[in-house]
Amino acid sequence: MHWGTLKARILAHGSVRLTGTYRFHPEQSTAGPGAGGRGSIFFATSQGRIRLALDDYSLLTLTADADGSARLTGPDIDICGHIEEAVYHCPRQAFITLSEGCIFSCRYCAVPSLPKYIKTRDEVCAMITAVKDDIDAISLTSGVIGSVEEDEKRAVAVVQAVADFGIPVGVSIYPLPGTPQRLKDAGACEVKFNIEAATPTLFHEMCPGLDYAATWEILEDSVRIFGRNRVFSNVILGLGETDAEMETCIRRLTEIGVIPVIRPLAPSPGLPGLLRPTADRMLRMAEFAKNALAKAGLDPTQAKTMCTLCGGCDLVAGRDI
Ligand code: SF4
Repeated sequence: MHWGTLKARILAHGSVRLTGTYRFHPEQSTAGPGAGGRGSIFFATSQGRIRLALDDYSLLTLTADADGSARLTGPDIDICGHIEEAVYHCPRQAFITLSEGCIFSCRYCAVPSLPKYIKTRDEVCAMITAVKDDIDAISLTSGVIGSVEEDEKRAVAVVQAVADFGIPVGVSIYPLPGTPQRLKDAGACEVKFNIEAATPTLFHEMCPGLDYAATWEILEDSVRIFGRNRVFSNVILGLGETDAEMETCIRRLTEIGVIPVIRPLAPSPGLPGLLRPTADRMLRMAEFAKNALAKAGLDPTQAKTMCTLCGGCDLVAGRDI
């Protein structure tokens, strides 16, 4: 079976029951899907990796041996591979959440309910120093504690400090006008500003207090400042949008030079009635994105940081399919 088809099937489950003799420390994230949950694990083959939330009731089973070799089985799924350990948050990256906690309350996000904590610049540098030989990227993200302005200021100061490691730095924070240039001047090489929902109506329903139109403008600025293949944006698949609406959003992103990260919804109690998208739908949207990226001359395999480099949570159009 083609890797993309298999990965879509596995991602449609999104979780796994872990058995076997492998001893590992689950990656407990303060960012990304499953933030604050009981942890997740990375399963990889030579073709790519998949992040799966740990769930004793999952229909998928991962049988992992002490040496890290692993077999993933479930309905129409049977594949051998290995476990990948996360460095911070994901394999081969120091993907660090600067402000844990958030003043906003996007309905699909668990971060606002986490205990609040702000990492200092020294703390982040010490974390990176400890793993610098095991990483290809430094990726920084943040909730918003205090105000957007204060948070951006802290992020810029951290970028200035970590740029000295000589490892590519990517940043994904809630942006203000001028944020892209300030991050670029500080030493970032890539940014990801999330448009989150395929339509403004869904965005306003899901993310009260955040500005959809401004984020689009800032994305356009970002491409001018960072260049093509260096700007990314998450859009969640499964918030109630139609395929046509998602396609319009993907086309709009690629036409302005932004690489979409099409993130399957992780259902949560805050979103009653919304289900994880099916494998077929993920594949359809990834195929559409692949063509839109090619038409726009964009290449996700050039990514140096963050989710498009990692690929754990999504079908990466242009790489997995
Ligand atoms: S794809 Fe992004 S959110 Fe998912 S594990 Fe990788 S870096 Fe984290």
